[in-house]
Order: sequence, then structure tokens, then C-alpha cells
Amino acid sequence: MDVLISGASMAGLSAAYWFSRLGHRVTVVERADGLRPGGAPIDVRGRALGTAERMGILGRIDDQKVSIVEPAPVLDGAGAQVATLDLRWFANETDEDAEITRDRLNRILLGTIPEDVEFRFRTSICALADGAKGVDVAFTDGREGHYELVVGADGLHSNVRKLAFGPEKDYVRHFGHYVALVDLPSGRQWQRGMLNVPGLTIAVRDAGDGPQGMMLVASPEVDYDYRDLDAQRRMIDRFLSSVDAWQVPALRAAFIDPAAKGFYFDSVSQTHMPSWIKGNVAVIGDAGHCAALLSGMGTTLAMVAAETLATTWTEYEGDLEAASPAYHERLRPYVDQCQAFAHEGAPIMVPKTQEALDERNATFRAYAARFAT
Ligand SMILES: Cc1cc2nc3c(=O)[nH]c(=O)nc-3n(C[C@H](O)[C@H](O)[C@H](O)COP(=O)(O)OP(=O)(O)OC[C@H]3O[C@@H](n4cnc5c(N)ncnc54)[C@H](O)[C@@H]3O)c2cc1C
Repeated sequence: MDVLISGASMAGLSAAYWFSRLGHRVTVVERADGLRPGGAPIDVRGRALGTAERMGILGRIDDQKVSIVEPAPVLDGAGAQVATLDLRWFANETDEDAEITRDRLNRILLGTIPEDVEFRFRTSICALADGAKGVDVAFTDGREGHYELVVGADGLHSNVRKLAFGPEKDYVRHFGHYVALVDLPSGRQWQRGMLNVPGLTIAVRDAGDGPQGMMLVASPEVDYDYRDLDAQRRMIDRFLSSVDAWQVPALRAAFIDPAAKGFYFDSVSQTHMPSWIKGNVAVIGDAGHCAALLSGMGTTLAMVAAETLATTWTEYEGDLEAASPAYHERLRPYVDQCQAFAHEGAPIMVPKTQEALDERNATFRAYAARFAT
């Protein structure tokens, strides 16, 4: 059967592998002109470890995982060290869990996909007409096609979700934060560490592919065009303007440089949908059940959903509506569990008040004392 996947990232590449392995003809459309690079290291954990094993890539992920090195200083708003953060205290659910850069994982996933899977970059779906025999699709490059199944794996701002299920505001819930990432330019010695003021975390880390700046800020939802990079840079500049200690002025300059590499900005949000299936269209990954960056489970869910959808749809011989109850039963409890983790991440990563920040730092100091003994 013919399967169309929108989005070539964790969810879309995993889905391409599974549908192809189960004997279907797969086409992947991706709006960008290649795999989108960038991002902080992400986690492959929990049920995704089994998925990775069945994909034959667990060893490769393990070989390329990020090794968490030295503990990093935690600084106050004046740049004075107040604690130490050792990610090994928090990073993993189990010892097998792997933290790996997005780019490395994307390349590993791409390497699993057979040659006969067709990739079309700089293309997007512009119209879907779903019927009893499948979905007629029109693309932005003028092409048309007919598919038994369309899979939206096109992220938080999913185009397929909008076309098939309705507007983003019906499903995406702002989780109260924004995140920004950028690769930091060479020519300056960047000091690893994390500076916090209430509601704002500014960090420099190096996961092995060069120093990267990160900003995580607590903020109500801002009304802006999420594709407008200049508007994103202005927002980051404003968020960072309250701090001028440590390397923050240089970080701010790096974030607002239009030529900067690895730039990424988005809201920290969750996607909640009563059903991930409608007719012959399904949404997976952040499009269907984004758990928010603070959960550390987005990639895991994307990989698990891809396998579950492909195997369940194939088991039900391509009848997506018939497969729907089994699919939701297999995935929903895990999604609920993973989405709940985001509530635990926020108070650690970006405490909102000075009191909460002092308490968090005291916890870090207590951990440091305990792990030192
Ligand atoms: C550049 C980037 C950096 C990221 N950095 C982090 C990070 O540091 N930490 C973290 O926890 N998560 C990060 N994420 C999100 C993380 O990748 C996802 O939460 C998770 O891996 C689930 O993946 P996904 O495939 O569902 O969504 P995504 O990884 O967001 O991928 C969606 C894909 O769909 C494509 N797409 C979007 N619209 C269309 C369209 N209309 N037509 C065709 N294709 C389209 C996008 O270009 C992208 O390749 C990042 C995502 C991106 C794109």
C-alpha cells in the first residue's frame, strides 16, 4: 500500500523505516531542503529502547551517545557560583537510556531507510481529500498523488493536523515557556555553566559537537508568527535583556545574529488530541502528542508511535479506522505518562521565583554532597 509521510525528523524517519520494512511503498515530504539540523541532545529511553533494538540501531545509538562529562557551575544573576549541576543526577531513567544529539540520531535513522523510499524536500502538502479508498493529496510543488494512508509527522505546528483535524489552537497547549538554542561561534572561549534568575535559564553546554547556547524562559503565550525568524530573535533579545553578567551579552549577540548556525526557537508546548486518527490520516510525534521539551520524552514518543502505528495499521490490513481502538490502547497510556513528566522538569530547569530558585540550588548542593561521599 502507498503511505505518505509529512516531515523527515525523528517521527517521520522512524515511520518511513517501519512502513517500508512492513512492505509498503513510502514517500516522505519535508518542507526544509534537507534534514533540519540543530537542537540540544535528546533522549532515547523507556519503550524507545525496544523500538531502537528492533530497528537494529541500538548499538549505533549507544556508540554515538553523548558522554556527560564534568559537572557545570550554577550561577546567580550576578554571575557568582551558587551550586554545581551534574547531569548524571537526573539524566537517565535507567542505565541503558541514551542521550544523543538530534543530528546524530537523525543520521542514524536515515541510515535505516531503504533506497526505494522516496524523499521529496522543499515540498509540503497543500490539500487533502480523504475518501473511502484513500487520500488524494496535492503538494506545493504542483504534484498530486493518491495514498492509502497519510501520516503527519510534521512537528508541533503540524500542517497535516491543521488540514485534517483543525486549527492548532484546538490541540496545542502552551506549557508556559519558550526555548532557544544556537551554536556558539568559535573565536571565544565559552565557559560551560548555567545562570538562573527567576523564570530564566541561560546555559552553555558542549555535548561533543561544539559549544551551544540555550535559553529557557517562563513566559505567557506570545502572539507572533512562529515562522518569522526576526520576530523570534527580537523576543529572545528582550528575554535576555534583564541579565548582563557572565557571558550573557556575548550569548545575546550570538542569538540575534541572523548568520548563526543551529538556531532554534519555539514555545514549550504540549499537543493533546482526543484521537490521533481521522479517516485515513494519522498524526504522530510532536504533531499528535508533543510532550514538551521539559519532559525529555519527545523523541522516545515519536519513535514508539511510528512503530506502533505501522505495525497496528498493517495488522488491520490498512483499515485505519478499524485499527484505531487498538492503536490508542497501545499508545495512549504511555503518552499520558510521558506528558506528565514535563511537570517535573520545569521546577528543576527554570524555577519561577527566587524562593523556588534558592530551594532548587540547595537541592543541587545536597546532591553534590551526597554524591561526593
Ligand atoms: C531544528 C529542531 C531542533 C530541535 N531541538 C530540540 C531540542 O533541543 N530539545 C528537544 O527536546 N526537542 C527539540 N526539537 C523537537 C524534537 O525534535 C521533537 O520533540 C521530537 O524529536 C519529536 O520529533 P518529531 O519528528 O515529531 O518533530 P520535529 O523534530 O519537530 O520534526 C518535524 C519535521 O517536520 C518538518 N515539517 C514541518 N512542517 C512541515 C510541512 N508543512 N511539510 C513538510 N514537513 C514539515 C520539519 O521541518 C521537521 O523536519 C527540535 C526540533 C527541530 C525541528
